[in-house]
Amino acid sequence: MLFLDFARTCEQLEKTAGRLDMIEIISRVLPGLSDEELPVFVRFVMGRIFPDWNSRKLGIGPNILYDAIRSVAGVKKAVVIDRLNKSGDIGGTVEELLAVKTQMSFSHNDLGLLEVYNQLVSISAKEGEASQREKMRTAMLLLGDARPLEGRYLARIMLEELRIGVGEGSVREAIAKAFNVDSALVEHAMQALNDMGEVARLAKVGPDALKQVSITPFHPVRMMLAQQGSIADMIGEHGELAAEFKYDGSRFQFHKKGNWARLYSRRLEDVTAALPDVIEQLMSATDHDVILDGEVIAIKGGKPMPFQSVLRRLRRKHDIAEAKEAIEMVPNVFDILYLDGETLIDLPFSERRKKLVDVVTMFIAPQTTSSDQAAIETVYENALAAGHEGIMIKVPASPYTPGQRGKNWIKIKPEVDTLDLAVVGAEWGEGKRAGVFGSFLVACQDQGRLITLSRVATGFSEEQLAEVYEMLKESVIKKTGKEVTFEPSLVIEVGYAELQASTTYEAGFALRFPRFIRIRDDKDLADIETIEGIRARYQRQANSTRAYQD
Ligand code: AMP
Repeated sequence: MLFLDFARTCEQLEKTAGRLDMIEIISRVLPGLSDEELPVFVRFVMGRIFPDWNSRKLGIGPNILYDAIRSVAGVKKAVVIDRLNKSGDIGGTVEELLAVKTQMSFSHNDLGLLEVYNQLVSISAKEGEASQREKMRTAMLLLGDARPLEGRYLARIMLEELRIGVGEGSVREAIAKAFNVDSALVEHAMQALNDMGEVARLAKVGPDALKQVSITPFHPVRMMLAQQGSIADMIGEHGELAAEFKYDGSRFQFHKKGNWARLYSRRLEDVTAALPDVIEQLMSATDHDVILDGEVIAIKGGKPMPFQSVLRRLRRKHDIAEAKEAIEMVPNVFDILYLDGETLIDLPFSERRKKLVDVVTMFIAPQTTSSDQAAIETVYENALAAGHEGIMIKVPASPYTPGQRGKNWIKIKPEVDTLDLAVVGAEWGEGKRAGVFGSFLVACQDQGRLITLSRVATGFSEEQLAEVYEMLKESVIKKTGKEVTFEPSLVIEVGYAELQASTTYEAGFALRFPRFIRIRDDKDLADIETIEGIRARYQRQANSTRAYQD
């Protein structure tokens, strides 16, 4: 496949609003692709380069890309930034600049889809001092051969933000349609493999290949997630439940095969180097090849420490040994997904728990099973008394469903009004805060799109402002006066007193007394609060005010 054909497909998809039409367009392309092209196309069309289990990054920031296009199009960087500021779309900007250039020179080497992919893979492999220059050179080579339309999508892929509205669900349906397989089978294979590209390849082989998938050690699967709910409803629906403490730390997935082990974060990043003590503890707890799911918490003087201490440790690149001395990290294991070559996610939780207890000797999160509301409430009270966040109640008969926020895991914790939101902009600080960002514009999501909800300027310590500045300074894509706009990546938790209807922000609501609580760099943009969630909270708030007035 030529990259131009890929770009044309993207253009067609970008102009298509209906999901069914999108599925149709993609499903028509898939059968014509070779075995090598198929996984690449599938990932590209979702705006990804690598399998989801692979946390490898291309490492081309907006600035490298601006420099590359500046040089290819023969314009000043200020021109690139100016056009970008007007359109807000890097793809469109690159397309326009290449169009001007193409009028002057006609020579093009045709870019192949696989050629682009291989170049991008080689970019990501480059490390060290000279790597930025080499990345820029490769970006220039590719953009130099790109026609304007190709440039549009190449630029967006390089920044890993294709934004043509194709979600994983549409690709799943397109694969099912193209190869005439059940979409539930495609979904199940995706849960185990965590790479839609590979799933497409198997779907082409046939349903049996999809059925036979197994989890591969060191290819992390997405974490199963929890919803809010109530103990009474859950008992009413399921009878017996399993209750565990809800630890306020950081989620991990531990993979071990023989003497080799790695630890992955909730975002599936390899955090082995930051937590050598956790690896050691888990290695000593089992002789088997396993994949375990759990939460690591920080303990000092026998008491759980705030969750921030775990995150700080995860971000730490140096002086790990010193940090290890100061605070003890303790893993709490609550699930097992793989044991000695066997994938366990389809077994009921109660069976998985038996296996877990059989093969892991320490660090297992205690569990109470009961159908008695008072007994579960006692676990909840004990959890709070011991300084934990609350409890998780789980359905014993349920499978492990990677990446799903289903009704089989329910979190019970005291009501606190906080929202996880994306930081999309900031204003430079003044006085003591000069030199760092002082207030932040935050957004929630509406069908995958970010919409602004509030500004947050209080709740930060000086140290936290410096920390946030370091995390965001490379993500600035636009500057207007004292305001900057970010390529969104950072998630923060924001507390508030009340939701108010307002037209100041795109969401149609504003937060009263917004207050920074903590950085949530364990969360992705996909995890932030949705507009539906905010509407529901607003409704609940209105109901409780009414109840109070009655
Ligand atoms: P939340 O982040 O509020 O949606 O709550 C779900 C998170 O609680 C999970 O992603 C885990 O990181 C964490 N957690 C703590 N203890 C448990 C447990 N026993 N079982 C499952 N998740 C837990």
